[in-house]
Amino acid sequence: MTTPVLARCTCGGFRFKSAREPIVQLTCHCLQCRQVSKAPSTNFAFFKLAGSEVEGKTVVHSFTADSGTKTARETCATCGEMLMDRTEAFPKIIGVVADRIQLPYEFQARCHVWVESKCADVTIPEGVKAFARNMQ
Ligand SMILES: [Zn+2]
Ligand SMILES: [Zn+2]
Repeated sequence: MTTPVLARCTCGGFRFKSAREPIVQLTCHCLQCRQVSKAPSTNFAFFKLAGSEVEGKTVVHSFTADSGTKTARETCATCGEMLMDRTEAFPKIIGVVADRIQLPYEFQARCHVWVESKCADVTIPEGVKAFARNMQ
């Protein structure tokens, strides 16, 4: 993978840069992502906050998970695209929506998470690890 990894939204208001490769890449089917992105599932690349730079104005959509943990999705304040996933449970990690990451980056899901709340008409590809809830 080529570093730094760069991401931006369509309007350019949001910019992200990481000096390092993502630590995990996954496809998320949770209700919070579905609600904010308006898409059936979201591809994420998770980076360590250390070595990552985030720029631009975002709107923070906060949720409290069943476990009591606070989690948030952030969208661009201008174009409304979903950009990031941050959760209290993993304060040193930031999830960036993979569709916003610029070439030559190529998304490769290590697993699918929150499959228990996936859209009924979404099929998980064969041979891919799937978790009912969070990754274990
Ligand atoms: Zn999600
Ligand atoms: Zn934007």
